[in-house]
This record gives sequence, C-alpha cells and structure tokens, in this order.
Amino acid sequence: MKLTEIPVAGYEKVVRGHDAASGLLAYISVHDTTLGPAVGGIRMWPYSSEEAAFADANRLARTMTYKSAVADTGLGGGKAVILGDPQRDKSPALLRAMGRFIAALGGLYIGAEDVGITAEDLVVVRQETRFVAGLPRHLGSSGNPAPFTALGVFLGMQVCLEWQLHTRDMAGVRVAVQGCGSVAQHLCRHLHAAGARLIVTDIIAARAQRLAAQYGARLVAPEAIYDVECEIFAPCALGGVINDDTLPRLRCQIVAGCANNPCLTPEHGEQLAARGILYAPDFVINAGGILNISVELEPEGYREARALAKVQHVPEALRAVFALAREAGLSPARAALELAEQKLAAARRPPRAAHAP
Ligand code: NAD
Repeated sequence: MKLTEIPVAGYEKVVRGHDAASGLLAYISVHDTTLGPAVGGIRMWPYSSEEAAFADANRLARTMTYKSAVADTGLGGGKAVILGDPQRDKSPALLRAMGRFIAALGGLYIGAEDVGITAEDLVVVRQETRFVAGLPRHLGSSGNPAPFTALGVFLGMQVCLEWQLHTRDMAGVRVAVQGCGSVAQHLCRHLHAAGARLIVTDIIAARAQRLAAQYGARLVAPEAIYDVECEIFAPCALGGVINDDTLPRLRCQIVAGCANNPCLTPEHGEQLAARGILYAPDFVINAGGILNISVELEPEGYREARALAKVQHVPEALRAVFALAREAGLSPARAALELAEQKLAAARRPPRAAHAP
C-alpha cells in the first residue's frame, strides 16, 4: 500500500492511502487529538473527484473534533473516506486494506461506521486493526449508534422548547421530520410517546408511510416539508437542506434534528437566528452516537447503562451553547463553535504548577 502524507494547515495528519491490489483509494484525516484519539466514521461514497473526497474528509474530521469537544467524550476528531460506490466497489479485500491503512496510523485514528459502511463491514476491517469501534453488540462492541443519537436529539428538543417556548411539554407540539431513516425511526418513537404531533416525509415513500402508520403522523411530499407550519423542523436526512431557497419558506420556531451540516453555509445559521428561529447546532444535538461509542473505548469496556447516562450530556451541552449565545450576543451556531474552541484551548494550556507564586 502506498501512503502519502499531505500537509494541511490546522490538521495534525492527513494521509492518502492507495492499494492497487484491492482497489482501495482512501483518505484519513486526523484533525485534532488534543482531547484524545481521533474517532470518526469511515464513509464510502462515489465522490465526483479526489479533491471532493479530500475536502469532505477534512470538513467532517473537524466537525468530529468539535462534536467530541462539546460532548466531553474525551476523544479527538478524525474521519476516513473511501472513494467508491459501496454497492459496487466494496469487497472484503478492500475493507481489509482499509484496516491496514488505519493500523499504519498506530491508533491516532479510530474508525467507526458511516454512510456506505455498516457495522458488519467493520468486522472485516477489524481483522487487520484493533483501532475500530461500533461493531455489533454480540462482539462486545457498542452496536448501532442510531438509538442513542435519537435519544440525544429528543432530549435536546426539550431544551429547545424550554428555551424558545418556555415549556418542556411535548404534548401537541408539531414536529416536521425530514427523512425517516435509522435515527428518525427512534426519534419518532420518543416524540409520539411524549404526545407530539408528527408530520413526516422521505424520498423513499414506503419509509414515511411506515412511520405515518405507526405513529398516526401526517404524510407530506419531500418538497412540501419546508412549508409545514410547526413548532419544530427536524432535518434527519442529508446536509445542506437549509439554504437560500428553503430558509425563507420555514414556518417553524425551532430547527433541531440529527442531520449533519443541515445549514448549507455558516451564513444560513446566522440567518435562522436573524429570523428568530432557534437552531440547535448539529454537532451538539447529534452527539448521542459518539457518546455511545466513547463508552466502548473506556477501560471498563461497553456498558449500555453508562452510555444512556452519558447521552444526558447532550441537553446540558445545548443549554451551555444557548446560554453562551445569549450572553455573548452570538447565534447558537457561532456559540457552539466558540464553546468547542474554548474547550480545546483549555486543554492545550499547560497545567499551572501546584505552588506557583
Ligand atoms: P439513514 O440513511 O438511515 O436515513 C436518512 C433518510 O433520509 C433515508 O430514509 C433517506 O431516504 C431520507 N432522505 C434523503 N434525502 C431526503 C430528502 N431530500 N427528503 C426526505 N428524505 C430524504 O441515515 P441516519 O443514520 O438516520 O442519519 C440521518 C442523518 O443524521 C445523516 O445526516 C447522518 O449523517 C446524521 N447522523 C446520524 C447519526 C447516527 O447515529 N446514525 C449520528 C449523527 C448524525
């Protein structure tokens, strides 16, 4: 395998890995390990170019640093991307080559599942390296992170309600859920149990229909979800959905969901604040999954009760972000970045001598 290190300002290590025998072409981006080893998913995606894959790895790695810093997981931020179509190009040889690539970094980066890579794929990666987490539960690992992400989002939504509408009571609150995938299924269960009124959509109609039938939700077409009058708009599909076209259409008071990077640009986070819509920053509210994985990396190993307790950190962190935003006159999106930077700066400062004059 040919490994090439690429210097990137502000990043600890970015490496390109190419293994001609298996067809693996991948990048591992280690953004920051101040708080611990860099943990982040391995994404497999048919990128349009190597530049696009490289940029995605770096952007996602930085977000993982911020996510873990705010959630106090004790981990740093990193990400890996594999160029290729997971339906067509994935093979055991390619996954094992990815394992050797991760092993070559000696524990600086720990991989996990992400778009295009399943927990079962990680079992194959594991044959070559122990630096991988989030494998199936029966192997003593932390399993599917989606239920923990969903719980964190639900608890975070309660904080948003409290902050914006001065109630914690979900009864009758209208929540428009975009995307009915792994996380949204669990989120809708919590919301329904708490008495929320659900409006759902998915580009795969059968998924939305299933949730609608299960929870008596109203179904709308994918494009119509932005126009739904509701208290909470919950982006639970892909990123970039809050943009110049959709933002003026939103008729909600809160944006809170699990999707990574729902705002197309940082400016859209500012515009939500300017419109009086409370935005729960993505990397703060969707940290339940990484908190679950972080338990597996503790010396005692994975314990579900401990993971559930750690997810309680999400509402606390969100409160801290909203409080900082209010105090400093910042948007919540900006305040979340500020809080992450503060935590990193505090960890980088050398400890004061015990008897300093
Ligand atoms: P998933 O693939 O299971 O679900 C996504 C769903 O969104 C799919 O059903 C898909 O058909 C639907 N969808 C895609 N584009 C859509 C559109 N334009 N309109 C309506 N529906 C659309 O993914 P997931 O694991 O549930 O993750 C959802 C989001 O949350 C992603 O952005 C992911 O990066 C993020 N996230 C997930 C986790 C986790 O624990 N799985 C953790 C943190 C963040």
